[in-house]
Amino acid sequence: MIPFPISGATPIAHPGPLPDSADVAIIGAGVMGICTALFLARKGQRVVVVEKGRVAGEQSARNWGWIRQQGRDGAELPIMVEANRLWRQLAQEVDTDIGLAEGGVTYIARTRDELDSFAAWLPVAASCDVDTRLLDAAETAALVPDAARGFAGALHTASDLRAEPWRAVPAIARRAAADGVTIVENCAARALDLEAGRITGLLTEQGRVAVPQVVVAGGAWSSLFLRAHGVTIPQLAVRASVMAVQAPAMAYPGAAEAGGTAWRPRADGGYTLAPGFVHQLFLGPDAFRHLRAFVPQLRRNPLGTRLRPAAPRGYPDAWTTPRRWAPDGPGPFEAIRVLNPDPDLRSLGRLLRSFEALFPDLGPPRVTARWAGLIDTMPDVVPVVDRVARIPGLIVATGLSGHGFGIGPGMGRVVADLVAGNDPGHDLTRFRLARFSDGTAIDLGDGL
Ligand SMILES: Cc1cc2nc3c(=O)[nH]c(=O)nc-3n(C[C@H](O)[C@H](O)[C@H](O)COP(=O)(O)OP(=O)(O)OC[C@H]3O[C@@H](n4cnc5c(N)ncnc54)[C@H](O)[C@@H]3O)c2cc1C
Repeated sequence: MIPFPISGATPIAHPGPLPDSADVAIIGAGVMGICTALFLARKGQRVVVVEKGRVAGEQSARNWGWIRQQGRDGAELPIMVEANRLWRQLAQEVDTDIGLAEGGVTYIARTRDELDSFAAWLPVAASCDVDTRLLDAAETAALVPDAARGFAGALHTASDLRAEPWRAVPAIARRAAADGVTIVENCAARALDLEAGRITGLLTEQGRVAVPQVVVAGGAWSSLFLRAHGVTIPQLAVRASVMAVQAPAMAYPGAAEAGGTAWRPRADGGYTLAPGFVHQLFLGPDAFRHLRAFVPQLRRNPLGTRLRPAAPRGYPDAWTTPRRWAPDGPGPFEAIRVLNPDPDLRSLGRLLRSFEALFPDLGPPRVTARWAGLIDTMPDVVPVVDRVARIPGLIVATGLSGHGFGIGPGMGRVVADLVAGNDPGHDLTRFRLARFSDGTAIDLGDGL
């Protein structure tokens, strides 16, 4: 079994040093923090990214690698259309092949009802001129001829992309560093330094950096950091398991999901497989605090979220995770450099059997790797991208809710403009922080 390519033992590629001052500090070197940094540097800003572990050690390397417009919330779609263009551009600008390919994304329907629910998204696609089509049974069979069974139809977006995430995000980070961004790995942010309620610096385990603006892009750890400053976001994180297999190429060249089996071709010739939309929520203090807000999401996918009694030690929402710490000593972030959850072997076993049953002619797939990641999610399945009114200089860019890899470059460009005080070019109302405190009902939106 091949170990996951990025861990706490991976040699440090970005040692810093931490500068004394910068225009902006970004917490977290996932796709969100790295893309924001890249676009800020291209505006001439002095940017430092502090990362408690390694660039893309957590969600941003562990994801399926789907770069999809298909099925997005209507407020995200225009940003995702921009991201689709930016991915093609970035693939040319980085120093390595990130496996970017236009194979399309397809949601395959087993029943007429499922197909009707997919069809409801067509007007959203049309609003942004995305090339999504509803395929009938015959068209679906022609698109995926290796499947051993027939389907009612499918939703298909030919212009959707895929890439190898553990290559892509580190490559964008190297590009950002070449463009002037200072990235410091093994450098946890411990606290904001505030004077008269305004940010004057960021306190890290490697010292203080004087900055007027800080972007929190800490993935599943963001709410822990923010709460220590009195900013509450109802963010939870679920464990999702994935595996890589070697198997012969099938005719359909893109990513797809059918009846809980999700797959996409890998640049190494095999497939990345995942149990579509099944994950575990480990109950910790935040889960109890925010569970009510998540009821609409749990109702929409009642079989997808499996509740587990207690978050394992080291998870952001474990009962043992400290909620308060002194800025001059180690906090919870240094304790877990790269969160590497154990994959759920039972659901991966079932997944392997269903992939084999769906594509018997490919022969038995050989499993080469298994891993898991903690997906951070908001109750309405869209991120928080906003300034915190109460703390001038603080910007939140987190909660990308299981689909942040694909939109990363687009959202990074948007956040860079937000930080720089420019018009971000898209309506960000749906991503505002106040939606969780101003009496607005949880709105699951029009994404699939
Ligand atoms: C199994 C799985 C499958 C997925 N599939 C897809 C997919 O196919 N397509 C898609 O678009 N999205 C997918 N996603 C979602 C996507 O990966 C995430 O939405 C996205 O990577 C989030 O990026 P991020 O930068 O916000 O967070 P992360 O990538 O988690 O990065 C946050 C970083 O912040 C660091 N950090 C946290 N706190 C601190 C601190 N105090 N100091 C310093 N550093 C800190 C962490 O170490 C981490 O590296 C998937 C996710 C998973 C886990």
